[in-house]
Amino acid sequence: MDYQALADLLYPDLAHDCAYYEALYPERDLPEGAMVTRFAPSPTGYLHLGGVYQVMCDERLAHRSGGVFMLRIEDTDSKRELADGVRVILDGIEKFGITIDEGVTRAGEKGAYGPYIQSERREIYRTFAKRLVALGKAYPCFCSEEKLAAMRAEQEANKENPGYYGKYAACRGLSLDEVRAHLEAGDSFVLRFRAEPTGTRPEFSDCVRGRIDVPENDADMVLMKSDGIPVYHFAHAVDDHLMRTTHVVRGEEWLATLPLHVALFDSFGWKRPRYIHTATIMKQDGGGKRKLSKRKDPEAAVEYFFTEGYPKEALIDYLLMLLNSNYEEWRDANPSLSYEEFPYSVEKMSHSGALFDFSKLNDVSKNVISRMSAEEAFASASLWSRSYAPEWHALFTKDPAKALAILSIGRGGEKPRKDLGAWKELPAYAGFFFAETFAPDYEPLRTFDAADVRTVFARYPSLYDPADDQQTWFGRIKELAAEMGYAPDTKTWKKNKEAYKGHAGDISMMLRVAVTGRQNSPDLCEVMRILGAEEVSARLARAAEAI
Ligand code: GLU
Repeated sequence: MDYQALADLLYPDLAHDCAYYEALYPERDLPEGAMVTRFAPSPTGYLHLGGVYQVMCDERLAHRSGGVFMLRIEDTDSKRELADGVRVILDGIEKFGITIDEGVTRAGEKGAYGPYIQSERREIYRTFAKRLVALGKAYPCFCSEEKLAAMRAEQEANKENPGYYGKYAACRGLSLDEVRAHLEAGDSFVLRFRAEPTGTRPEFSDCVRGRIDVPENDADMVLMKSDGIPVYHFAHAVDDHLMRTTHVVRGEEWLATLPLHVALFDSFGWKRPRYIHTATIMKQDGGGKRKLSKRKDPEAAVEYFFTEGYPKEALIDYLLMLLNSNYEEWRDANPSLSYEEFPYSVEKMSHSGALFDFSKLNDVSKNVISRMSAEEAFASASLWSRSYAPEWHALFTKDPAKALAILSIGRGGEKPRKDLGAWKELPAYAGFFFAETFAPDYEPLRTFDAADVRTVFARYPSLYDPADDQQTWFGRIKELAAEMGYAPDTKTWKKNKEAYKGHAGDISMMLRVAVTGRQNSPDLCEVMRILGAEEVSARLARAAEAI
């Protein structure tokens, strides 16, 4: 068979040959060890948590090694609106603050190895498909859908492996004349890989999993569909070769077809990239584990975490903990460093057990939020509220000095308070500071003697001085307690309950309920200072009236 003649017959009209593209996209001039990675999502209008998990890995490997991180859009089988699909992906990546060096960006395509959108690369795929035909490694298949369905039925009945191989590979042996006749009759064709199984299990390795044991490819898989569009396998080989990708980070669902990918690289005589197959993100469901599901789990979509108001720093910390087994320890030892300082490594990547755990994420996020300065917290909280809670945003940011004072409570020092796990909790935490959202529940006041409550509310305004430090502030409450026959502290009260009506804690609880409208609140002394003496008095009067 004259394969070159077959290639010319199938692809008579190409503008360039492979050598042209090899020269157009030369080996990259990068320092030794620099990694070139890419995130290659399909624009489905959805960014899965697992996708960002891969992005983090791609980005860390590229940027820590002085390499390049690309975004390639794999839209060959997407029937959806491309622009919107890309926007969702870019929005998601941008919210993590990650820099895309090359590929599809907000400002359009960037870089010398494009186009980076597969639907714009048809001519390139056709050129390399032609080359594979000329090498005798691919051939046209004119089998109809009905014929293929009959083949599958027969294989099923005979309990044989499914696929186009051996005696089922009817078009494998077509002569040049037969192919010509089909083309002249206007028959459409798919291009199939000519598999050459050796009967052995080939050696592959994955940077994280080590030696991989998957059976060799023994079926003549489709490489190009009848509309001239490549399937993933072929596009992956061509794109990652021409873009000079060094490390392919992708989901473990691609492990099964790795033999085909490797066979494709080998057929062209190309250097294989290194592969990193990431673990699928799972979640605990009842007694078992299952994949995070787009349909059942809102948290499968990255956008969900931004809606909830998890700061990007918390999400990054959490994803890095899932990705690198030593990240958590490093973070504990270096609470104030940027994640970029962490020595991310392929060696420490885990290949199993990416178990998504909300309570862990919440702990991580509480730590992250508690370590922020008040200014950082304000910026992060406003970023969330501007998009996701506009009414609250208007209220909270109206007086930035007040907002900063609220966010300063319990911040700084050795043991900052960990009240907030996500900004969505902020309105409930701090709503009482604003007249518009102050919705007091005075019920707990009924557990105290009503006359005492009234006395406290009447007496306190004249005792309160916003200039008091914490100790003096509480000293005054103790004085009032003593005056009213309450013990100065719980210990004294517990020793001799008969002698007292209660203790100073009861007095501050009365004040807390009146001033914040609830039993749990941030530090009351700070709260009062932010509200101011006048508002404190007004709230005490309002509570006195309500009981
Ligand atoms: N478009 C493929 C996917 O979304 C990309 C896999 C890869 O990274 O090679 O699964």
